[in-house]
Amino acid sequence: MISPAEAETAIRASVPLLEAESRTLVALNGAVLREPILATRDQPPFDRVTMDGIAFSSAAGRREFRIAGTQAAGTRQMVLASPEACFEVMTGAVVPKGCDCVVPVEKLSLQNDTARLLDDVAVTVGMNIHTRGLDCRAGTALLDPGVRLGPPEVAIIAAAGLAHAQVSRSPRISVISTGDELIEPGDPISDYQIYRSNAFGVLAALQRQGHLQLAEDHLPDDPDTLRTRLRSHLDTHDVLILSGGVSMGKFDYVPQILGELDIAVVFHNVAQRPGKPMWFGVGPRGRTVYALPGNPVSTLVCLTRYVYPGLAAAMGESPTARQMIALAEPFDVKPALTVFLPVKLVADASGNVSAQPRPTRGSGDFTSLLGTDGFVELPPGPVTLAHGTIVPFYRW
Ligand code: AMP
Ligand code: MG
Repeated sequence: MISPAEAETAIRASVPLLEAESRTLVALNGAVLREPILATRDQPPFDRVTMDGIAFSSAAGRREFRIAGTQAAGTRQMVLASPEACFEVMTGAVVPKGCDCVVPVEKLSLQNDTARLLDDVAVTVGMNIHTRGLDCRAGTALLDPGVRLGPPEVAIIAAAGLAHAQVSRSPRISVISTGDELIEPGDPISDYQIYRSNAFGVLAALQRQGHLQLAEDHLPDDPDTLRTRLRSHLDTHDVLILSGGVSMGKFDYVPQILGELDIAVVFHNVAQRPGKPMWFGVGPRGRTVYALPGNPVSTLVCLTRYVYPGLAAAMGESPTARQMIALAEPFDVKPALTVFLPVKLVADASGNVSAQPRPTRGSGDFTSLLGTDGFVELPPGPVTLAHGTIVPFYRW
């Protein structure tokens, strides 16, 4: 049986890259960039005034100046005619030619057309001037392909003068639960049935990850229905996320039916608890299928541990550094399997954050997930991990 790390590597290696598309600035948040963004101009593109005040030449060592005019933001550069003159300048304006410093208005006494520096003002060359090219030079790479775009990145693309950028198109994802015992929330229910919750938890998780092209379905444990409906989902979606029907039960038909639909299995079963029966395969036209075990804790753990990296790889996102955290208490790992342990993040008096174990009563006990922030990945046992052991952390 493969390990979780091997399973993740296999997923990353086998998911096909989604095509790129051009999007306008207002539709870029959360998308994965698929082209390099270069600075088209120096930043700032001119010597920029950073305070409202006056600009003058420091060379003459004067403290009093005649105001010769006003250089407002967005106006062509003015030229200082003589060292006893100054210009009134506004934040964001070009520094007038012949000036090398700016003194803010609160450090001046102003009378008619004369500005006088207050006694405590020490004049230095370049003061309150944001020099051309200080932040970056034209031609510098600002963003690389594979970056997930957030507020600073979108602002940088706009500041480079681009109205559009090439990003990955969104995967069309279908979330499908399976099982004859499961009833639609809101419908009448018998005492031997349960409400189906997985699909809704998975949808909420995907929405939080920024995925919006989502469909949802429920299928019975019936081979013919599974075959027909899964074929139709494969026609219209890039990614199928199934829950249930992948274990050793008599009515666990999902792996067999996916095989009949030409989805080639990449792996089935991972040496982990919970979620051992996890199944993953790739089909014609680059369709990917994640079939997650149905127990609700397993479903959420496998979604986070395998589907998120798979979707990120399909969108071309560069792998990000794994978040590591210290255990807040010792923990005994009993099975000879990787253990995913739900945790709550807690901060001590010095602000150090660590992970407090919140084990569930088995993989069906999802009420114990309330108040948890995610889970940690613990090495196969038997082993006792000391308080403070550093382990990978995955947020829900
Ligand atoms: P399975 O993986 O189909 O063998 O299901 C394992 C356990 O998870 C069973 O107790 C199921 O009733 C439960 N289960 C499966 N799917 C769901 C679901 N969508 N919502 C809640 N529980 C589920
Ligand atoms: Mg089932």
